[in-house]
Amino acid sequence: MSDEQVFRSARDGFRWDGVERRPYKDEGEAPFKDISRQALFVDERLGCELRYFEMEAGGYSTLERHEHVHAVMIFRRRGHALVGDAVRQVETHALVTIPPMTWHQFRATRGEPLGFLCMVNAERDRPQLPTEAELETLRQSSAITAFFDGTKPGAPD
Ligand code: MN
Repeated sequence: MSDEQVFRSARDGFRWDGVERRPYKDEGEAPFKDISRQALFVDERLGCELRYFEMEAGGYSTLERHEHVHAVMIFRRRGHALVGDAVRQVETHALVTIPPMTWHQFRATRGEPLGFLCMVNAERDRPQLPTEAELETLRQSSAITAFFDGTKPGAPD
């Protein structure tokens, strides 16, 4: 590896040298809003990848589940996360584990950006999206409905 590949400086605005800021997913593949992806470490010698995702105020990641696990560290500001049937406010440096086959979504609910680091297996299964019936089941929780609607899900300020 060249020195430029070994050492990559941080730039302003949560960017890094040699790292492209890309769309979160291909448009139309799944629902999401105002979220970007930066692949920080993608190396076939590793069994995992480290990505940085950032959403603008009001943005959200896809509600999905899959067999692979996510290890997440909130990296910029705060927002809310749904994991399984729990909705929590998440703040800078908090850690969130997404277990296998567990519905999850991150939302920038606080009128500010939300950024997080996400470690994931290099080889992983495709995410599943909820059916209408599964969404209906999730919406039986008022906290989850408030989370989906982008209103404050009752967590303390
Ligand atoms: Mn996921």
